[in-house]
Amino acid sequence: MTFSQILGHERQKNILRRAIDSDRLAHAYLFEGPEGVGKRLMALALARAVVCKEGAGCGVCPACRKVDHNNHPDLHLLEPDGTTIKIEQVRGIQKELSFRPLEAPKKICLIDGADRMNQAAGNALLKTLEEPNGDALLILLSARPESVLSTIRSRCQRLPFARLPQALLKGVLLEQLGVDEVQGHILAALSEGSFKKALGKDRDLYLGRRREILKTLTALSPGSILPTLELAQSLAEEKERLPDILDILQAFYRDLLLYQHGRSESDLVNIDLAEKIRRVAPRENTVSLLNKLEAIAASRRQLDRNVNRQLAMEVLLMRLAA
Ligand SMILES: [Zn+2]
Repeated sequence: MTFSQILGHERQKNILRRAIDSDRLAHAYLFEGPEGVGKRLMALALARAVVCKEGAGCGVCPACRKVDHNNHPDLHLLEPDGTTIKIEQVRGIQKELSFRPLEAPKKICLIDGADRMNQAAGNALLKTLEEPNGDALLILLSARPESVLSTIRSRCQRLPFARLPQALLKGVLLEQLGVDEVQGHILAALSEGSFKKALGKDRDLYLGRRREILKTLTALSPGSILPTLELAQSLAEEKERLPDILDILQAFYRDLLLYQHGRSESDLVNIDLAEKIRRVAPRENTVSLLNKLEAIAASRRQLDRNVNRQLAMEVLLMRLAA
């Protein structure tokens, strides 16, 4: 992966390229931004540019290829072991960094999930950041930078990554997945600028299952208790995908709100369900839609607190059917 192969993030690429060209790389970077937008690819492109024998990450020389195959002796990757990065892992990296690089001008350590370091691990890493070794480059990645120790954050050069623009994502989806315009639009809109989401396991959920869920949901009425309970149960069983299902519900009610306020149908997420949206919209008003969006937000908070999923879905669907 070279800088030019990475989608979007032109400003970030330029900052890093300039730093390399002028030999002014920081000792430590914190790449922060949403999951799946390309932070790790950018870190690997940076690593390649540093170790490359031919120039800024040619992709062909042995050093670049070792980075691609994850077996360069001067590139180390630290990831959560289970749910956290532990102090032993940080100590292991510190030991590595205490040696001179073997082949590259620098030793590079990529820490993915920097917010998942426990206190002890974070404090240990702080030592390395406080006494930077000229041969070392640390690249920390985090989707939740506010959870990274503030003392660590302040010693890194922070590089924020935004979500990929919808149009850019859609173009790539059309090209790489061979989906049609409508599907490309829906995938790009629902994956919220995350390439990982659009290309990953959620694709079927976003394209097929979404229509099914919304069909069942809009057929519910306040009196239809049994179907409501059944849908709640089937949603609750989709444990891992529940946050993404809530995204689908949220996008649908947001579409209704936009439609009611006269936005054109091409601005909607569910452009393939324009007919349904026209049919359902007269049953709602701004207040009822805002209430439903709030109900979705409330169930999201409940799921984060690990409440009973089935119960959370039942309460949510009853509020949505009202
Ligand atoms: Zn190279």
